[in-house]
Amino acid sequence: MKQTVFRWALILLIAAVFITALAAVLITHPGPKDTEFFTREVQETLWVLPALVIVAILAAYTMAWHVTDPIHRIDPEQPGETAPYEELVPLMARIREQDRLIRQQTETLGRARRGFDAITENMSESFLLVDRRLNVLSRNVSAKYLLPAPEPGKPDNLVGGSCPTEILHAAENALVGRRTELTMSLHDRYYYIIATPVFSEDQITGAVIIALDTTEREEREALRREFSANVSHELKTPLTSIVGFAELLKDGMVPPERAGEFGSDIYREAQRMISLVDDIIELSRLEDESEAPEMEPVDLYGLAEEALEQVRPAAEKLPVTLSLKGESAVIQGVRTALKEMVVNLCDNAVKYNRPGGSVTVTVEKNDAGETRLSVEDTGIGIPYEHQPRVFERFYRVDKSHSRALGGTGLGLSIVKHATRMHKARLELWSEPDTGTRITVRFPGQKA
Ligand code: ADP
Repeated sequence: MKQTVFRWALILLIAAVFITALAAVLITHPGPKDTEFFTREVQETLWVLPALVIVAILAAYTMAWHVTDPIHRIDPEQPGETAPYEELVPLMARIREQDRLIRQQTETLGRARRGFDAITENMSESFLLVDRRLNVLSRNVSAKYLLPAPEPGKPDNLVGGSCPTEILHAAENALVGRRTELTMSLHDRYYYIIATPVFSEDQITGAVIIALDTTEREEREALRREFSANVSHELKTPLTSIVGFAELLKDGMVPPERAGEFGSDIYREAQRMISLVDDIIELSRLEDESEAPEMEPVDLYGLAEEALEQVRPAAEKLPVTLSLKGESAVIQGVRTALKEMVVNLCDNAVKYNRPGGSVTVTVEKNDAGETRLSVEDTGIGIPYEHQPRVFERFYRVDKSHSRALGGTGLGLSIVKHATRMHKARLELWSEPDTGTRITVRFPGQKA
């Protein structure tokens, strides 16, 4: 601006100087005939020209400075209410309006951005936004598990980096207008990927990729499938025996003197099925977290007495001596779940014992208010390699031995769930051929 004004002012001044000089010469010497004198006169006035040019330069510069300086001093971010001179009033008004619009739009954009960030950053799902060339435009924190951010200086693009092929494939599909859903596994986790095209005025401008971590659901599904398969298998075994015995009886293949024996076999197998169904019902009741269980004061010592009475017939058969140590200890708990827990522990302590062995149940409270219930036996013990797994559903060290003793493989699983329900801690100590001790530690409860 300054240069333009300066240039034009200079041109005008030079032109004015020439016109003035020429005019002066023509006025003083109107006759073109006296050309020699005309030439001399013109030459005499020529020395004025450089001086005039210098004056013109200075005048032009000063003028340009006066015109442009106030304009330079205008702060476009804070244009103010007044204009430096009248000609600038419309320009200032336009600058102020532009400034207001820009501020408004920046604020709207900022609000939208903050809202978008708040949503995507708090999402446990991974989120990626890519353009038509698969450049990553936006990603949330969770996306780092799927697609780590590129090293500084490297392009953030789905191609050529560490992007899993499934995600690349889904994004490419979305960019040609095909919404894509697929499952994939990465670093021992499962993801459900949804890729959707992003449209702008009927044109695909990019794609949104969302990945849901479905690991827990997949694991639950696998457990459920395994559980169903186990239940079917466990029920089928006694049922097959029952059908076999009944068929022999029906076809008259059993001599009358052995009919009683077959009857007891059928009874035993049916009992086993009932125990299994009872255990499954108990387990699903303990696992059902939809309703908070009703807590009541329960005396663990009294419960242990009842449990020992329940296993006494089996203990007398072996024989195994039963004893109860400690004192009355009342905790807030679910009576049925606690009873199942103690009965299952005592039942195992007798079942996996040896003739002449013993079972000791101890109930005591310590100074910190913690209540401890332990069931110790002098039985066969649990081999070390099996110890970490005995609390799993249907896990048995010796399947046929457990079955022969009427075990379902669910007893310790019920104990584990009941323990968890009471926020208690479970400890297992076992020495093969020496014995086993299982301790449940209930946390101190406020009165
Ligand atoms: P089960 O119905 O087979 O007894 P549990 O879940 O109660 O099922 O126990 C799982 C497995 O742990 C048993 O099959 C058995 O091998 C082992 N076990 C449990 N308690 C004892 C114990 N007190 N002594 C030795 N082994 C035990």
